[in-house]
Amino acid sequence: MNACPVCASEQISEIYSGPVRSAEPGSPFTDGYRIDLCSTCSMIFLNPFPKAVLEMYKDGDYWKARTDDLKKKEFVNKFIREQLVWLNRTGAHEFVNESVLDVGCGHGIFLDVIRNIAERTAGMDVDIHLKPHLLERGHEYYPNWPDEEVEKFSRIVLFNTLEHIEDPVSFMKEASKRLTADGKVMIGVPNAADFMVDVVEEYIPFFYRKGHLYYFSMDSLRYVLVKAGYQIISEKFVHQYNLMNLVGWAKNRSPQGVPVSLFDDFTEETFIANLEREGKASHILITAELKS
Ligand SMILES: [Zn+2]
Repeated sequence: MNACPVCASEQISEIYSGPVRSAEPGSPFTDGYRIDLCSTCSMIFLNPFPKAVLEMYKDGDYWKARTDDLKKKEFVNKFIREQLVWLNRTGAHEFVNESVLDVGCGHGIFLDVIRNIAERTAGMDVDIHLKPHLLERGHEYYPNWPDEEVEKFSRIVLFNTLEHIEDPVSFMKEASKRLTADGKVMIGVPNAADFMVDVVEEYIPFFYRKGHLYYFSMDSLRYVLVKAGYQIISEKFVHQYNLMNLVGWAKNRSPQGVPVSLFDDFTEETFIANLEREGKASHILITAELKS
């Protein structure tokens, strides 16, 4: 690509080239990837988008290798903590008696978490292997966008989804067609300004990964949403890991997950609050509504 895939500016320049992570933590690194920054809209993106990744999303096989794990407790445990952080930061009250569509729902763990407070829970995910699992847990399932004439939702959430999408502006326009007039979208994505990128050299090829076509900043995520016809209600930084994770990286130079901390709650909370205040947290969370 010679121009930014989001704003079409030709003011793009390479900020990294080298190995990136293939998939989940523990997967191998693959060499030969380039990351560009658009100085017009501040979007960071893989250049070019890997063909194999685009095909994988199209074929709907994203979770295929892991469907056998669906009922394993360890699998759910691995993801539930993250979903609880999203719920904590959006606020559980936002989902009381609401109709919720989780776009890129995966195994529906966020939907499980809000099942007893939301009126309706629906998941959308390209991977049809997830369908029986979601139906069994009482959620609706859509392999693609539900019929815009029939299905409207008062909350549409995308947690760690938009960075996988080839054209995020068109995608968010599609989302807006399924949103009730007074509905809200909540988008959480990894933060390109994650402090770990500056602090731990080994974290860089771990942070960049084949499946993530985009690396958002608060500015570029806001830009995408406004371009797709939304107005912003709130912007937050959300840190998903603890101080112990950093200590583990410093010691082992490899991913740590969220280890049991040797620090007290006050120290951990202060660490997280500081990163979120400084905009250096692991994730960004924007809540938006249709432009009035
Ligand atoms: Zn741009």
